[in-house]
Amino acid sequence: MTPLMRREEIAVGLRTVRGQIELAASHAGRDPAEVTLVVVTKTFPASDIRLLVELGVRDIAENRHPEAVAKAAELTGLDVSWHFVGQVQSNKAGRIAAYADVVHSADSSRVVHRLGAGAVQHDRTITCLVQVSLDLAAETMGRGGAAPDTVSGLAQVVAATEGLRFGGVMAVAPRGGDASRAFRRLARIAADLRHEHPAATMISAGMSGDFADAVRAGATHVRVGSAVLGRRAALR
Ligand SMILES: *Cc1c(COP(=O)(O)O)cnc(C)c1O
Repeated sequence: MTPLMRREEIAVGLRTVRGQIELAASHAGRDPAEVTLVVVTKTFPASDIRLLVELGVRDIAENRHPEAVAKAAELTGLDVSWHFVGQVQSNKAGRIAAYADVVHSADSSRVVHRLGAGAVQHDRTITCLVQVSLDLAAETMGRGGAAPDTVSGLAQVVAATEGLRFGGVMAVAPRGGDASRAFRRLARIAADLRHEHPAATMISAGMSGDFADAVRAGATHVRVGSAVLGRRAALR
């Protein structure tokens, strides 16, 4: 495929997803401008990220440190916010802090402390979300996330950690479960947290299969990969 064809393919994907976000927002009586499209570029080349930027995308997400750090290095100077949305291994947290602007997936105080230490070391401030596990199966299957009854405590830890700004919450819908119900629950957890942390307005929810549900439930950030970029060569 020529670069021009790829650009057109991505432009069509973006138009479609943006249109669906607008529709879902208007159905929910929300301003579509409240919803940020974060494009998940895992497994896709850095050249696709350049095309996304040309097409107006400013928020790029990766889910694995080695791939993320390589692309961030290749694209130094590009005007994007880098989001890290994968599980954070605590021994990698310090290195993730070197390039990530937003980490969606903090789920333990150990990870939070190491992200903060890395941010301070690199003289940066990172927006940190707490990933909430919305079903027991997700926790035990290692998909990450903190149990709902621990989220408020973890939010306190993030808010008190130098180098980090507590941004809000993130979740992945339970496999085979009711995504809308899960997203509404996440929105309630977020609303509760805002009593203590009024600036923590981010709700990161929704992927290619369920981002419209997430928007209707109040998501401020949707993380969409394949619906914009096409099928990934290999599942991770
Ligand atoms: C891959 C990934 C996404 C995007 O998935 P798609 O189904 O391709 O939209 C969103 N969130 C996380 C955490 C991911 O790892």
